[in-house]
Amino acid sequence: MNLKQEIAELEDELIELRRDFHRHPELGWQETRTAGIVAEYLRDLDLEVEEEVAKTGVVGLLQGSKPGPTLILRADMDAVPVKEQNDVPYRSQNEGVMHACGHDAHTAMLMVAAKILSRRREQLAGNIKFVFQPNEENEAARHMIEEGLMEDPEVDAAVGAHIWSPLASGKIAVSEGAVMGGLCEFVIDLKGSGGHTSAPHMSRDPILTGSSIIQKAQQIQTREIDPMLATTIVFGQFEAGHSTNTIPETARLKGTLRYLYQGGPESEEKPRERLRRIVDGVCTTDGIEYELEYPVVTPPVYNDPGLAGELKETAAGIVGRENLDDYSCLAGEDFGVFSSYVPAVFFFLGTGNEDKGTDFPHHHARFDIDEDVLKYGVEMHVRAAQNYLGE
Ligand SMILES: [Zn+2]
Ligand SMILES: [Zn+2]
Repeated sequence: MNLKQEIAELEDELIELRRDFHRHPELGWQETRTAGIVAEYLRDLDLEVEEEVAKTGVVGLLQGSKPGPTLILRADMDAVPVKEQNDVPYRSQNEGVMHACGHDAHTAMLMVAAKILSRRREQLAGNIKFVFQPNEENEAARHMIEEGLMEDPEVDAAVGAHIWSPLASGKIAVSEGAVMGGLCEFVIDLKGSGGHTSAPHMSRDPILTGSSIIQKAQQIQTREIDPMLATTIVFGQFEAGHSTNTIPETARLKGTLRYLYQGGPESEEKPRERLRRIVDGVCTTDGIEYELEYPVVTPPVYNDPGLAGELKETAAGIVGRENLDDYSCLAGEDFGVFSSYVPAVFFFLGTGNEDKGTDFPHHHARFDIDEDVLKYGVEMHVRAAQNYLGE
């Protein structure tokens, strides 16, 4: 049977799986129901299955009949804390939690791809690790790797995907280089000394210092880094004070630093170092104590040019060259951790269709996907593995 027919026969199962996960969304690190279903499904395919990898992750190993390299195909399983406003039969039954990022689709597509590839074990030279990752919205890839994901057998490359509503239904984007932003979340704690606003000279005002830091940090983007290298520094929280006539003792600033490059003259550490230099300089000038931390650091998703070129050709064969697109954005994605370890490629599968109401942004309460594109995601996974493992 040819691949397209095989996928067509599994399409009902594919959509049913997606809808089941959609009905029962689980937040990061809590994907126990989802993980259980995935593990059982993979076991039925005779894969070697490991559960509880990084708490709720599942990994299925498919060994081809001949030796060769090892490829990761990765999906994420977590939902987000959004109250669904769609009136659909598969609406979320877990109040306040919703698959509003499309990870339900990622999980379903990879399960069906695993089924098809497991039937073709004889033709595969090498291994496939089907990685069902928890907690993508925060971070889990690093934990999976710390638990040995990249070893035994050693991983040579990785493929990941995201259903993408800003991209029109049926389009696929595979671009070279950085395609999703490196992300550093920062927290700056300032400590001055409090007092009455009528005698500011008796205090050291952390609000004024915080304001200076916010202003001064903008020069990193506009005066220090090549404007052709996308970088943003945005403060999302400024917490300080509790009354109109009191200078508080402390202030806390939080935000994100994002960039779309890896290596080169502006290495990944540099924007962080630049922010530290500015915070240190402003605080020294103002006589304010500070602590600066980066609790979350995710590298950019970096597409290996060779792998991206090949996958682009694969996509052209599936949806037609006229439906290929180029796409990159500054949103963070935990797949960046995989792409910082091995050559990797991440593709966007368009699902935006106004007529079907599937063009709402990700994380929106009305987010939904065009289920007609799921089959393309399955075929991309299957063909990527076949190409890499030389069927
Ligand atoms: Zn998301
Ligand atoms: Zn997502």
